[in-house]
Amino acid sequence: MNFANFVDLAARNAAVKPAVGDETELLTHAELSERTAAAANALASLGVEAGDRVAVCLSNGVPFLTAHLGAMKLGAVSVPVNTRLNVPQVRYVLDTSDVTVLVTDAAFADVAAGVETAVTVDGSVGHDYRELLDDAAETFAVEPRRSDELAEVVYTSGTTGRPKGVRHTHGNLLANALGIVTYFDLTRTDVGLTACQCFHVTGLNVTTTPLLVAEAENRLLPSWDPAAALAAIENHGVTCTFLTPGMLIDLVDHDAVDRYDVSALETVCVGGTPMPTGRVDDAETALGCPVLEGYGMTETTPLAAFNRPGDDRKRGSVGPPAREVVELRVEDLETGRAVDRGERGELAWRGDTVTPGYERLQHDSAAFVERHGERWLRSGDVGYLDDEGYLHVVDRREDMFTTGCGNVFPREIEDILYDLEGVAAAAVIDARDDIRGAVVTAIVRPVDDLAPGDSDLAAERVREVCEERLEPHEVPRRVEFVDELPRTATGKIDRVALREAFGTTKSP
Ligand code: ATP
Repeated sequence: MNFANFVDLAARNAAVKPAVGDETELLTHAELSERTAAAANALASLGVEAGDRVAVCLSNGVPFLTAHLGAMKLGAVSVPVNTRLNVPQVRYVLDTSDVTVLVTDAAFADVAAGVETAVTVDGSVGHDYRELLDDAAETFAVEPRRSDELAEVVYTSGTTGRPKGVRHTHGNLLANALGIVTYFDLTRTDVGLTACQCFHVTGLNVTTTPLLVAEAENRLLPSWDPAAALAAIENHGVTCTFLTPGMLIDLVDHDAVDRYDVSALETVCVGGTPMPTGRVDDAETALGCPVLEGYGMTETTPLAAFNRPGDDRKRGSVGPPAREVVELRVEDLETGRAVDRGERGELAWRGDTVTPGYERLQHDSAAFVERHGERWLRSGDVGYLDDEGYLHVVDRREDMFTTGCGNVFPREIEDILYDLEGVAAAAVIDARDDIRGAVVTAIVRPVDDLAPGDSDLAAERVREVCEERLEPHEVPRRVEFVDELPRTATGKIDRVALREAFGTTKSP
């Protein structure tokens, strides 16, 4: 098997159906097959062989997808690179992954000049991608690969440190795509919207590849813009999409949301960071379709747990573990023993979507553990399974802290803050204080049009509401209001930046 074979299967079954479109072009499944074949031939003409690493540093669009899948057809390993990184960070990724060819554009001309072989889609440095494609044959005999051979390396978000390169095999990709197609009943009549970036597992493997495997149509948004997303949903009759909670809130809070016809939408999936529970109803009302929360990691390709369409989805839960592809073990935080349903512990995973490992061995030894002769991936997330087998993610183990009076899980406090009128976004961190130790600190971004006096959003009110619903040691002792919460390239709250800005405090 070769995961990229699905492109040729779709070309046979749905040749003239639209497959993938960006702002400038729309390819049918037959054209996608030809374009990816040309990309494979073009890379081969540059000396790329099976097993070589090809980095693709481009934002969402047809050129990204054809280079990525073309490399995979050739048996090479595609390495999507985050286009928001700066030059030294991109160099770090290329070095870590031992990349021989870089496909990029003028924005990374400096980096391109320093690699063995560079290809640019605008012809600014090295080989011109369009010329290479023009000269390349549009058929390619894809050789089968073993299911444990590497197909791609995708980098994590870097929420807890430097992004880590995660290896995905052809088998991981197939299990992930078939799982998503089956769970969400994706068919040829679906139209998907890739709103997240394809350099991250959410854009690449939650929307783009499963939709193409289903022989559906997929529209790629070059960058996040709620108005452009609403327009794409209306213009292309988008039936399904995946958004991070921040994107979903942006969309629903958009001034003109009512002016767009979003009636084709059947499912909106959300994940990547906690979805404030209280905001799901608003989203379902505004979009007129179910909002399904799921959980995954780059290390699980990312399918791990998801609420599915139908009546049995559960608010506040990320759904049952995807048993067809993964097994979950919830482990006691101290002893590592498996805990019972209802008890909190660290989530550990194994199965078909779980990565064989990272690009750097030291990450493997930190993340994988042996339990009764089996290798499990520790996620670093704390959660529990409820009586009905639904998974609830409480927080990242690393974000949990103790005040001396008990443990604090920031997510539980944030969920309450989001329920307050006038709160657009919120984060809770532990600010350090020499005398008091950890001080629960809430950082709140009010909604844009909140005029003074419009609502009772004030530090006192925030504390009062928290006092009603939380244990005394969880109530924020400090509340800061900000215009913007710093976020990582994948839309997650950047707690490192928040700790730098608010991480120390003075005793009164
Ligand atoms: P890094 O590993 O580099 O620190 P990261 O953990 O953000 O970054 P990703 O693979 O992008 O890397 O994200 C996976 C993580 O996202 C999970 O481990 C979990 O903490 C979080 N996550 C994903 N979905 C959810 C969800 N529905 N609710 C809460 N957290 C989620």
